[in-house]
Amino acid sequence: MDLSLTEAERDLVELCRDFAQKEIAPRAPLAWEEARCPTDLLREMGELGLLGMLIPEEWGGIGMTTVGFVAAMEQIGRADQSVAAAWQAHVTIGSLPLYLFGTDDQRERWLRPLAEGRALGAFGLTEPDAGSDARGIRTRAERTDGGWLINGRKTFISNAGTDMSFGVTLLARTGGDGDGGPPRYGSFVVEKGTPGFTMGPKMRGIGWRGLDTRELWFDDVWVPDDHLVGDPEMGLGQFLRTLEMGRISIAALSLSLTQAVLDLATAYAKDRVQFGQPISQFQAVQFKLADIATELEAARWLTYRAAWLRDTGQPFQKEAAMAKLKASRVAAWAASEAVQVHGGVGYMLDSPVARFYCDSKVLEIGEGTNEIQHLVIARALGC
Ligand SMILES: Cc1cc2nc3c(=O)[nH]c(=O)nc-3n(C[C@H](O)[C@H](O)[C@H](O)COP(=O)(O)OP(=O)(O)OC[C@H]3O[C@@H](n4cnc5c(N)ncnc54)[C@H](O)[C@@H]3O)c2cc1C
Repeated sequence: MDLSLTEAERDLVELCRDFAQKEIAPRAPLAWEEARCPTDLLREMGELGLLGMLIPEEWGGIGMTTVGFVAAMEQIGRADQSVAAAWQAHVTIGSLPLYLFGTDDQRERWLRPLAEGRALGAFGLTEPDAGSDARGIRTRAERTDGGWLINGRKTFISNAGTDMSFGVTLLARTGGDGDGGPPRYGSFVVEKGTPGFTMGPKMRGIGWRGLDTRELWFDDVWVPDDHLVGDPEMGLGQFLRTLEMGRISIAALSLSLTQAVLDLATAYAKDRVQFGQPISQFQAVQFKLADIATELEAARWLTYRAAWLRDTGQPFQKEAAMAKLKASRVAAWAASEAVQVHGGVGYMLDSPVARFYCDSKVLEIGEGTNEIQHLVIARALGC
């Protein structure tokens, strides 16, 4: 396994570091206060090619490797987790279903604008009664003459309600209710402005305050046949496959948060004087920092390995789940430790470490909770 970055990956990291430090980090405090999706920044990232990160050039992207994406995320996420969260949701779950399962016409129509950074992608799986249990979704798509009639409700959907959003690629049941067969699912594109497609206000989380997450309603929404993405009965498998890459992405986001809080805590510990010396001189504080650095490195290697397996065409499902489980746990724990190193200052929302602390919890929940990652890993062990 060779994880040294290629020249293209190193160039990308440099571009992201520069953009993150100059453009994202200075706007992070205001973005937190305003709690609105920073589409101005996302558009700028689109102009740099970053919104088409994992999509080949043929469809408007830059065809970056997964390893390169993880390395780029380490830079973006250190500056602001909300921007990074919206970005990664777009790059992975928001765009990949169209790339992996769409027809060339669908890729031209919907994927190209996403990859070129002219629109933002959304992935509609979760419902009020079906989160971890994706098979339990109730949204239905019924075949009609030349199209599908969709009824149902989605919740916690990111990137669907911004001024840059194109709509959503959603999962709906296409059969199995009362016809005696097993449940079947299809995935469909529903564009913004389609009659019957409405959404609630932006939801308020304890972190990721800039991320636009909403409830979506579908009341007799009709879409033509060419809005069906992939197989009309295999949509659940398509969505679950998309989530495998989403897990590497959340792991990468977790690494970026852990690095950010380690840097903040280390700098603060060297500066803060108590009992006549910097608190970094106390072994109890040193051990916290050393533990965070060590756990971060362990999480980093799991994440890069999962990315490398994906890039080299090898199975990576178990490793992606392990990376997400480990990296998100480390991030949530490290953020709490870093606040502790800051004392009362770290508790105040004006301090960056407090914002990262608030952002850290969702990493253990989104794109499959950590309990679900345990199930995926246990299944891979034969349980
Ligand atoms: C900020 C944010 C953004 C999101 N963005 C999107 C998005 O863009 N698109 C989308 O489709 N969804 C999105 N989600 C939804 C997210 O994927 C779900 O919240 C997550 O999958 C968990 O589902 P749930 O919230 O319904 O929890 P539940 O499934 O109700 O779980 C509740 C608790 O029970 C545990 N649990 C459930 N089943 C089991 C089991 N079998 N064994 C052990 N424990 C179990 C869970 O681990 C959890 O601790 C987002 C969520 C958040 C918070």
